[in-house]
Amino acid sequence: MIVGIDDTDSRSGMCTTYLCTVLVDELESYGEVSTPVLVRLNPCIPFKTRGNGAVAFGIVVNKGLEREVKEIVKARVTELSELRAEGTNPGVVFIDDNASKTSTEKLKRFYETAVREVLAIEEAYAIISELHLDYFGLKNKRGLIGALAAASFLLLHAKKSYDYTYELIVYRRKEIWGTLRFIEDASVWAADEATYPLVWDTVDVANKKLVLVPHSPCPVLFGIRGDSVDAIYKAYELIQAEPEERKMLFITNQGTDCHLKNTEKLWDYHSYILDGVVDSNPRTIEGGHVLFSLSVQRGNESVDCIAYEPTKGFRAIIRELRIGDGVTVYGSLKESTLNLEKIELRELNLVVERTPRCNTCGRNMKSAGRSQGYRCKRCGTFSAVKDKVIVERAIETGLYEVPPVARRHISKPLVRMRMGDKIIHPSR
Ligand code: ATP
Repeated sequence: MIVGIDDTDSRSGMCTTYLCTVLVDELESYGEVSTPVLVRLNPCIPFKTRGNGAVAFGIVVNKGLEREVKEIVKARVTELSELRAEGTNPGVVFIDDNASKTSTEKLKRFYETAVREVLAIEEAYAIISELHLDYFGLKNKRGLIGALAAASFLLLHAKKSYDYTYELIVYRRKEIWGTLRFIEDASVWAADEATYPLVWDTVDVANKKLVLVPHSPCPVLFGIRGDSVDAIYKAYELIQAEPEERKMLFITNQGTDCHLKNTEKLWDYHSYILDGVVDSNPRTIEGGHVLFSLSVQRGNESVDCIAYEPTKGFRAIIRELRIGDGVTVYGSLKESTLNLEKIELRELNLVVERTPRCNTCGRNMKSAGRSQGYRCKRCGTFSAVKDKVIVERAIETGLYEVPPVARRHISKPLVRMRMGDKIIHPSR
C-alpha cells in the first residue's frame, strides 16, 4: 500500500515531512516501510505554504493490520495538522497494490500535471473514484491533489520513470521549535568542502550563506541534498548542531527541473524552457531587478524576462546581454513575465550598429533626417546605412544559473547537468 499526504502545515508551524517521518517511525512495527518520497509540485501554485511539497511512503503491511494502519495515519494527520490555519486543508490517499498495478499511466499523467499545471480538486476526486481509492481529508481537502501526486511519484519511482535526488532532513526537539537554531557554521562549510558536488546547495559560496537551514518556525533543523546517500551521510556526520529529535532520508524530485516544459502556448503559473533572441537591451528597474524582452522563436511573440534582486550575482550576467543574442531561458511565467532560473547564452551577437564615421575627417556623421541616411556636416560625405563594428563581449556562451540562495527546490543545479557538449558555468 502507498500512503500519500499533503497540506498539513502552515507558515507558523509544522511540516508535512515531519508528520511523514513520525508515521514512518511509528509504522515500522506494522510492516515493511519504504524510504519515503518528498515531491515538489508546481512551484507557481498560489495557495502553497512554502515550497509546494507533498510526501508519500510505501508499506507492506503485516497480515490483518491494514485497517489499523489507515486509522493510525488518519489519527496522526488529524492530531498534527495545523488545522487552525486558514490555508491548511489536509489530504491523504491510500493506493493499494491492485490499483498500483493497473493504473500506472493515469497516475503518471496526474503526477506530471500536478508538477507542471494547475489542477482542480475535482480532478483528484475523479481519479480517486475511478480507481476506487480510499482517502481521507479535512476542511476543504485540497491536500488530496498533492497526496495523490506524491503517491503516484513513489509508484513511478519504483519503475525508474524519473530523475531523482535525495534529501536527509534532520528535525529539532519539540520543546525548542520556534527558537533560534544552533548550528556551527564552520562545520557546515567543512562538510560542504568534503562532499560537494555529490552534495549540493548546502552553502552559497558567492553570497557566503548557509542554505541548508530554514528560517521558519517549523520542526526542520536542516536538510542535506545530493545525489549520493553516502556523501549525504558523510556531510551529516561532519555537521555540529543542537541535539536532534529524529531524521529521515527522502527520495525527491528536487533539483531535477521536472516542472519545465517546452510548449507552444504560454500561460501564467506554468514554467518553460524557451529559445529566443534578445530584443531589448537589459535595464535595471526599481528594487534592483533586471529586465529584458525576448522574441520567442516559435510563437512569434515577445516575453519579458526578469532576474529578481534576490538572484544577486546572476543579474550581472543578464546585464551583459545585448539585442540580437540567441538565448534559451528557463523559468516560470507570472503576470506574463518569465522569472529566470537559468539562462543559456547560445550565440552572442558580436556585431553592433553605430552611427557612421566620415572617411575624410573621422568624425561621427549626423542623421540626414528620418530614413535619409547620414551626412558629415563638414565634408558633405554621405552614408545610407549605419556602420557595423565587431565588438568584444565580457561574457562567454554557455549555461548560467541563479545562486543557491535564490534557487527553487525543484530547479536543477548546473552541477547536476550533463548535457553533452554544453558549456556550464555553475554559480561556484
Ligand atoms: P510545505 O512546503 O511547507 O510543505 P507547501 O508549500 O507544500 O508547504 P501546502 O500546504 O502543501 O504548501 O499547500 C499546497 C496546496 O496546493 C496543497 O493543497 C496541494 O494539494 C495543492 N496543489 C499542489 N500542486 C497543485 C497543482 N498543480 N494544482 C492545484 N493544486 C495543487
